[in-house]
Amino acid sequence: MPCAVDDAFIFSGFKPADYVTLQANSIQFMQIQVNTVVSVSYSLEINEGGSTPREFVEKAGAENPLTFLFGAGGMIPGFEQALEGLKQGDSFAMEINPEDAYGHASDDDIVELPFSVFAAEVEKYPDMLTIGNIIPMNDGQGHQFQGKVKSVGMDTVTMDFNHPLAGKTLHFTGKVETLREASAEEVAHGHVHGPGGHHH
Ligand SMILES: [Zn+2]
Repeated sequence: MPCAVDDAFIFSGFKPADYVTLQANSIQFMQIQVNTVVSVSYSLEINEGGSTPREFVEKAGAENPLTFLFGAGGMIPGFEQALEGLKQGDSFAMEINPEDAYGHASDDDIVELPFSVFAAEVEKYPDMLTIGNIIPMNDGQGHQFQGKVKSVGMDTVTMDFNHPLAGKTLHFTGKVETLREASAEEVAHGHVHGPGGHHH
């Protein structure tokens, strides 16, 4: 009886068109696209590409997922490309080349700075300029970034401002935990509000 379902909805006051609309809006059919608020659990490993050994970097569990506004430019391009179209509950395993992640390390981002930049802080934290230390810095215009101490000379400190994951191939495995449509305010702000996002 191919018409049985339709008949049932007509008898109970629903028309087939209502049924279609209801299903299309339901969360289980929602796919990741621009202006979706996405929460994923994941584990990240990196390597130098190919079959070189992988190194564990970090993970986010289902109880503390990564939540972000899809398509707002806050995530690396390859990560969003691999998630686009997935549904809640879907698992993923992706491999992202440096070109679609943090790019390649560049000598242009290794900078020799005068020691005076650090002098006041070094008085407070004598171990600050240990080689390999990551130091949060800003450029005086409010841009914050992190630099790694590469070498320390008499009057200068050489800092490496390349992203720690530059040149690395990223391997994410994880699961789409929850999806919802972003509010108009979230879209306007370009970030998520509430759990996992901004509180303001
Ligand atoms: Zn906001």
